[in-house]
Amino acid sequence: MADDTYGTFRDELIDSGLVIDAGVEGLYGRTLAYEQIIAGIISLTTRTGAGDGAMTVHFPPVIPRWLLERTDYLKSFPDLTGSVHTFRGDDKLHARLLTLVEEGRDWVEVLEPADVVLRPAACHPVYPLCTDGPLPADGRRFEVQGWCFRHEPSPDPARMMAFRMHEFVYVGDPEGADAHRDVWVQRGTDMLESLGLDIEVVVANDPFFGRVGKMMAANQREEALKLEFVTPITSTQSPTAISSVNRHQDHFGLTFGIRSASGAVAHSACFAVGVDRTALALLHRHGLDPTAWPEEVRARLWP
Ligand code: 5GP
Ligand code: ZN
Repeated sequence: MADDTYGTFRDELIDSGLVIDAGVEGLYGRTLAYEQIIAGIISLTTRTGAGDGAMTVHFPPVIPRWLLERTDYLKSFPDLTGSVHTFRGDDKLHARLLTLVEEGRDWVEVLEPADVVLRPAACHPVYPLCTDGPLPADGRRFEVQGWCFRHEPSPDPARMMAFRMHEFVYVGDPEGADAHRDVWVQRGTDMLESLGLDIEVVVANDPFFGRVGKMMAANQREEALKLEFVTPITSTQSPTAISSVNRHQDHFGLTFGIRSASGAVAHSACFAVGVDRTALALLHRHGLDPTAWPEEVRARLWP
């Protein structure tokens, strides 16, 4: 596949019947063939992290509005936020709503915010589970995966608005958080390379919003708090992050009031697999027909 051809790759993914254009940029339906790749990646990730004693938890793709406020997401990424709104009016307002829809005008003005927002990262719901007294001496570990939403519509198939993320999270002391990062840099690289992908681990930053965000991104890079596992999907010049390791320092510990065994503010770190992006990387690398992928790759995904 040639470079910078995300339009072509997107068309190929749709023409091959793997994904379905769901009607707006960055939103896709998935067929069984694609979902079998997703299931394989999730199963391999689970096996890779088994043995650490992580508690496996699942949460819906919507989280309480208070949780989004507590994570400081609105400070850092207001432009990626997805908020749920609903109708709370009377008959009169309902009539207005229908009129606005019929006339093709903006009807959202009559809605009101619900108590939930869309989840931007798989790990956010686990931090409130750690606020119940000091953590055990070796911290707490969670495995969590599911749908995430970030409002960044794009024709690039690797930039989806709704996608799956599979994470292993550590909450405990600073040394444990560093160890979690180090272990997962190696494990993540081995896991993704075992699928025949060329992986490079690079220092990265989140797309923090605005002027203050520029400083936050610079600080994140300086301290190498975010490492991304990149591989070519739609461009070899700028490969795509299919996984990342994030060191949050005491950010979640402070905002959620989590204390480590020593009583100090807890530190945390997480390893996140971008499940959909990993599927796309495999389709780019090995071709659009998973039944024709190398036997050793198939054996890793579907043992
Ligand atoms: P992070 O929290 O590092 O931004 O995201 C974790 C992982 O989720 C990324 O490494 C990436 O693989 C995946 N991810 C982030 N944004 C997107 C996106 O727009 N589309 C898709 N498909 N995956 C994403
Ligand atoms: Zn996370």
